[in-house]
Amino acid sequence: MKFASVIVDVKAMQTDRAFDYLIPEKWMGFIKPGMRVIVPFGPRAVQGFVIALKDSSDFDKVKPITEVMDITPALTAELLDIGHWLTESTLCFKISAFQAMLPAAMKAKYEKEIRLTSSEAKDRLHPKSARWFENAPGIFWKEIEKSDSVKELQGDIERGLLEVIYRVKQKNKQKTQKVIRAAVTSDVLKEEASGCTQQAAKQKKVLDYFAEHGGAAVPLQELLLKLNITDSPVKTLIKKNLLSESYEEIYRDPYADRTFQKTESLPLTPEQQTAIAPILDGIERKAHDVFLMYGVTGSGKTEVYLQSIEAVLNQGREAIVLVPEISLTPQMVNRFKARFGSLVAVLHSGLSIGEKYDEWRKIRRGEVKLVVGARSAVFAPFTNLGMIIIDEEHEGSYKQEENPRYHARDVAIYRAKRHKCPVVLGSATPSLESFARAGKGVYQLLTLKERVNSRPLPEVEIVDMRDELRSGNRTMFSKVLLEKLEDRLEKGQQSVLFLNKRGYSSFIMCRDCGCVKGCPHCDISLTYHKRGHLLKCHYCGHEEPMPNVCPECGSEHIRFFGTGTQRVEEELAKVLPEARIIRMDVDTTGKKGAHEKLLTAFGNKEADILLGTQMIAKGLDFPDVTLVGVLTADTMLHLPDFRASEKTFQLLTQVSGRAGRHLLPGEVVIQSYSPEHYSIQLAGKHDYDSFYMQEMTARKQHAYPPFYFLALVTVSHPDLLKAVSVTEKISQHLNHKLSNHVQILGPSASPIPRVNDRYRYQCMIKYKREENLHSALKMIIERFQQDMNKNQLSISIDMNPNAMM
Ligand code: ADP
Ligand code: ZN
Ligand code: ZN
Repeated sequence: MKFASVIVDVKAMQTDRAFDYLIPEKWMGFIKPGMRVIVPFGPRAVQGFVIALKDSSDFDKVKPITEVMDITPALTAELLDIGHWLTESTLCFKISAFQAMLPAAMKAKYEKEIRLTSSEAKDRLHPKSARWFENAPGIFWKEIEKSDSVKELQGDIERGLLEVIYRVKQKNKQKTQKVIRAAVTSDVLKEEASGCTQQAAKQKKVLDYFAEHGGAAVPLQELLLKLNITDSPVKTLIKKNLLSESYEEIYRDPYADRTFQKTESLPLTPEQQTAIAPILDGIERKAHDVFLMYGVTGSGKTEVYLQSIEAVLNQGREAIVLVPEISLTPQMVNRFKARFGSLVAVLHSGLSIGEKYDEWRKIRRGEVKLVVGARSAVFAPFTNLGMIIIDEEHEGSYKQEENPRYHARDVAIYRAKRHKCPVVLGSATPSLESFARAGKGVYQLLTLKERVNSRPLPEVEIVDMRDELRSGNRTMFSKVLLEKLEDRLEKGQQSVLFLNKRGYSSFIMCRDCGCVKGCPHCDISLTYHKRGHLLKCHYCGHEEPMPNVCPECGSEHIRFFGTGTQRVEEELAKVLPEARIIRMDVDTTGKKGAHEKLLTAFGNKEADILLGTQMIAKGLDFPDVTLVGVLTADTMLHLPDFRASEKTFQLLTQVSGRAGRHLLPGEVVIQSYSPEHYSIQLAGKHDYDSFYMQEMTARKQHAYPPFYFLALVTVSHPDLLKAVSVTEKISQHLNHKLSNHVQILGPSASPIPRVNDRYRYQCMIKYKREENLHSALKMIIERFQQDMNKNQLSISIDMNPNAMM
């Protein structure tokens, strides 16, 4: 094969197709689909993905590939296929789709080193690659990239004799540590060791250690500790050029230092048995099916996942478990690690780039069989998938809000079809879409109605905060909630207080003229941050000092309104001075590991009250928590989002599930200014089924999903008139191209009409089946391509918008 079809890293409509490049002779047979290469593109050199090889090209002048970035393909054949499918289904550029599937380290600058996997491996190398390792166990790729032995090296990598190490060049100030590795082969090390005199016993110890470990890198501190020596013999050996030292990013497996109590499968309850049977059957028959496991919180869904995974692993296949980023807590991860130990890789945003890459590499090499991770873990490069589980499938974070705008559920189902394996979607409050599909038989419904050990769901009391105000209570705690908090303090039990902060934060208002301080670049009010006494915009990052007087009328009666967690903490300290409080929000959990530390402290009963935002709503399981309070249940209800009721119901149900999970029964207090709303009433009764019926009626009436599909086109430009006129043209175009079964709403201003000094207009399409939709939308991008490149215009198309923002 003399030619490669390459997708180049130039994000534009005209370049969103494969270009032909000549494969230089030395790389023929070496370059494979899925590899990244550097190619000339116009006057530039750009990165690209090889998507196919071919014998001939339709073009006369084909330029050669100049560099090869991978030695084994970065993308498997399956991932290449997924990339093409993502491009079609989410209307993104191919290059964006491919890049989204790779770990960040592969986008960063790095050097590749090829190293022997063991000292024995050296003797089994192909003679053409062996010569590179005569004097050292490793060599940098750039030194051999253009040699005549790349194919042999590749073969030896595939046989596991050599491995590729990526050394990420850190721009940011990552912590580094001194790392020591052998600079010579193990044979040389052994020889030197045997030649050591009595006085050099410590040097011998070090040489023996490296000979035994194939010369592999080890942090200096660890080495000294292991061998119980000072660093002087190491220094001597470095001087003799037998060892080498370097500074590298501290690699820290977040779970390595922990020992896990191994857990065994629990005998399943009859409900769990009924639920797991069809899943096991699907695994056994290697059949694709989508199961929706609808089980109340604490009904033992996770145990069902664990035992299904076990069946998959026994079959020699692999599994992916997706968990929302926010519930990817150590508690959650431990349950998988405790059952499957080192077969588990974890992918979450708390890992450094290097750590993430390392987990990815374990997956790629088949060293692990199970991945637990957030959204993008759905692209884990397994080749023999036996199951994909999506826990809390209703979570909005499974949808990526930038290109490619994919939903992990869709990707999971697409992959599972190819691998002929089940997908299990689990939730206590399934998304309306999924529950409707289960109702139609598209998904198989599995139901867990009871909590394990039949613990009752907690009692919920809904408090009307308007009544509180009328009776003179101006604090943010109702009388009932305060009494119950005091009661728990006396009994030495714990409480969780939840502040639904979304769409409601501490803004600044003048009490004399009513002026609200807004961001000068966005149509949104600024948020007060106590730390630094600052006002910040959460959309564009604008910051300014908190004013002392009203900028409009000069009044001194300017203060912040709304209830940030900091304010709740202060108020709480006033009314319950003896209570020990742990606050969890973006400010207190910013640092790596802070999240876990706070939770551990709460688990150790170092505090009476855990106060926090969304981040404490999920996955937490503390036996002594007997009271959950929701301070403001309805802050999300009034957002311009057709899923507002659904999200409110889900969140309240989740939060309520935190209480009374163990021996002590739990209670929940929900404070609300619109307590009559059905999503609050029904969450109070733990009544998903009624909520589903009522919400479906509303969705049908307003032609929203799951009755209709949505597509949202958002246009933004610094000039308001330009934004409006482009949106107008777009809706005319769509009206013209699409059938009269679709509804086209707009142009209308976006719910946040200006962000970062750019005006935003939108056009919404509601449709059921519309063959021309994709081509009509693609035409929009083509038509405005010039404007987008040169004229600051931006158009985004979301095929399945989560929110309307
Ligand atoms: P969910 O994921 O549905 O919220 P979990 O799987 O967390 O529920 O189960 C709740 C609790 O019940 C956990 O502490 C779990 O260990 C326990 N559990 C689950 N299944 C069983 C079982 N079959 N027998 C005994 N305990 C169980
Ligand atoms: Zn004023
Ligand atoms: Zn702003």
